[in-house]
Amino acid sequence: MFGLKDDWAFDVSPRYFTLEDFDGGVARWCPACGDHAVLQAVKRICRDEQLPPEKVVAVSGIGCSSRFPHYMSTYGFHGLHGRALPVACGVKARRPDLTVWVATGDGDCCSIGAGHWIHAIRYNMNLVVMLFDNAVYGLTKNQTSPTSPVGLKTNTHPRGAWLPPLNPLSATLGFTNVSFVAQTVDWNPIHLHATLLRAYQHRGLSFVRIMQRCPTYTAGLFDDIQKKPDGMTLLSHADGVPIDDALRRIIKGEIEHDPSDLAKARALAEQGDPLPIGLLYCDPSRPCYEEYTNAGLDMKPEDKLAVLERELNRFAV
Ligand code: SF4
Repeated sequence: MFGLKDDWAFDVSPRYFTLEDFDGGVARWCPACGDHAVLQAVKRICRDEQLPPEKVVAVSGIGCSSRFPHYMSTYGFHGLHGRALPVACGVKARRPDLTVWVATGDGDCCSIGAGHWIHAIRYNMNLVVMLFDNAVYGLTKNQTSPTSPVGLKTNTHPRGAWLPPLNPLSATLGFTNVSFVAQTVDWNPIHLHATLLRAYQHRGLSFVRIMQRCPTYTAGLFDDIQKKPDGMTLLSHADGVPIDDALRRIIKGEIEHDPSDLAKARALAEQGDPLPIGLLYCDPSRPCYEEYTNAGLDMKPEDKLAVLERELNRFAV
């Protein structure tokens, strides 16, 4: 009775998770927004990897893409502007068993959150960080972001953005202890899924820049890359993002790139035409801060108390 067997062991049936098990609220992004594709890719990975929803956390800051946690039926934290990464690091510091997906935009990560970005890369905790780069502030209705290209007309620069755009790949590849940097695009679901899966499998912080279409404010921004047959180059390597025949039929360009070569990764990060997509850099041997913050997680309360008392006794007079 009550699900208990005669020997008092719980009778737990194996659970199988479908895509629907990860469905949260109905996504309120604009039609054809690239965010929809990223959400589907993450749900597919959760389903394929059979991650229990209660072991998954989606963390975000503020922006269109930061509505991501609302659309996953998992734990989630919709944080403050620019603060997705410290929240995600905090979760990982004490709950290393959870899979953490971070959704952050170019405004959220590369502007107000830039200080956190540098240090999260250095902490190298086991997170997948998805930079939704649509080159504009969309939620607040069309302001210049750090990655807006020169000449983009926005409400803050009606005559066109003036400064050269920040390159998130080059910046990340310059931060201390960087361990994984990849680039993909929202409009190729095969490559998007393969890249996020490779990021999920990496030990350490995986930083994935996703070129994300915003048909409302930056329509046509990626047309050259998207519509030209040679607008993109696949980065291929045994350790990289897997490439199948279907991908090769769509994207003609392909170069061999060893992701352990940091200097070459930095050179590729600067390349815009054709746009290199795949794994630019990977070093799974980099130290992960959670190996330090997780110390003592398995201690019993009485052991913790004993350590505390020993420390306090040092100051006894
Ligand atoms: Fe997507 Fe742009 Fe609409 Fe925001 S404004 S939901 S980024 S299409």
